[in-house]
Amino acid sequence: MLPKFTYTRPTSLDEALAVLDDRPALVYGGGSDLLGCLRDRILIADTVVSLSAIDELRGIRTGSDGSLRIGALTTIAEVAADDTVAARYPGLAQAAASVASPQLRNQGTIAGNLCQKPRCWYYRGDFNCLRKGGEMCFAFEGENQYHCIFGGDLCYIVHPSDTAPMLAALGGVCRISGGRTSRSVAVENFLVPPAADPRRETVLEVGEIVTEIVIPPPPAGLRTSYHKARTRQAWDFALAGVALALIFDGDTVTSADVFLSGVAPVPWRANGVEATITGKVLDAATIEAASEAAVAGAEPLSENGYKVPLVKGLVTEQLEAIRTN
Ligand SMILES: Cc1cc2nc3c(=O)[nH]c(=O)nc-3n(C[C@H](O)[C@H](O)[C@H](O)COP(=O)(O)OP(=O)(O)OC[C@H]3O[C@@H](n4cnc5c(N)ncnc54)[C@H](O)[C@@H]3O)c2cc1C
Repeated sequence: MLPKFTYTRPTSLDEALAVLDDRPALVYGGGSDLLGCLRDRILIADTVVSLSAIDELRGIRTGSDGSLRIGALTTIAEVAADDTVAARYPGLAQAAASVASPQLRNQGTIAGNLCQKPRCWYYRGDFNCLRKGGEMCFAFEGENQYHCIFGGDLCYIVHPSDTAPMLAALGGVCRISGGRTSRSVAVENFLVPPAADPRRETVLEVGEIVTEIVIPPPPAGLRTSYHKARTRQAWDFALAGVALALIFDGDTVTSADVFLSGVAPVPWRANGVEATITGKVLDAATIEAASEAAVAGAEPLSENGYKVPLVKGLVTEQLEAIRTN
């Protein structure tokens, strides 16, 4: 059962920020994660501020500089179906289309997808784990088949978002407002790894909200893709996934941004893959070397060693697909 809280539904950003400035409160985008977290006492709030009536936070438009500006309240379904997204950044349309189910894509917002809480069953369950203020991560020696193989440091969650790795690969930036200030943070730096602070997921301070996500104009030769492996073909989080944003000059990769999903507490930049393929034609030897580089430094836990060959296979498959795109 949901606990009692005060619910407000402002109709302008200024009004929402004034409420958030006035008292501690949680922000409601589509509510598809927030309500479950409140029900399960993962999050506690006296006040919930719904953004859902703020029209200025909705929609996708092209900025005067050619950037794509996605309002925080734009649903994941709208991102998946948008013609400009599909034409310029097909990988983002693929990432959005791979989120959860049609119902959740219709309800969930792009900002909520970035800010959602981790799915670790210890964190979501009755365990006072490190992320909830306790002393230890129970996954480290427990049931860890869905946990991370990179970036685990005291806490071994994976970040659940499919859109975050693709937005990071595209150089996306979160526009953030709070009180009387606003700032921009690259999606790549928006999510906080446990080594920096195991008790927070994003850089958002109390009273701040994401207002939009801005993606730079696509450079000539950009090709993008996102693909994830999951146990079922619907309603399921990534066991592992690969987001590619590669710039080609003819058959040669001149620039590469590659992020992995489902394997780390934050979208994981695959530096080794980027270094291996930049300046190269994606022939069989380069792809083989890139798939090896993708898993260099992986530290699987007792039950998630399968993610190592899974990542190698996904990287191989996606690089083979994108070279003929
Ligand atoms: C069964 C199931 C399967 C799922 N599968 C997938 C999947 O495969 N891939 C995937 O990526 N996701 C998946 N999800 C997660 C789903 O996509 C998220 O629930 C959704 O994206 C959250 O969006 P929302 O707008 O409903 O967020 P809310 O529930 O409203 O909010 C989520 C969090 O974000 C914060 N928040 C929301 N908007 C803002 C804002 N503008 N500024 C600051 N903070 C904000 C809230 O305070 C809250 O902490 C799944 C969820 C479920 C329940």
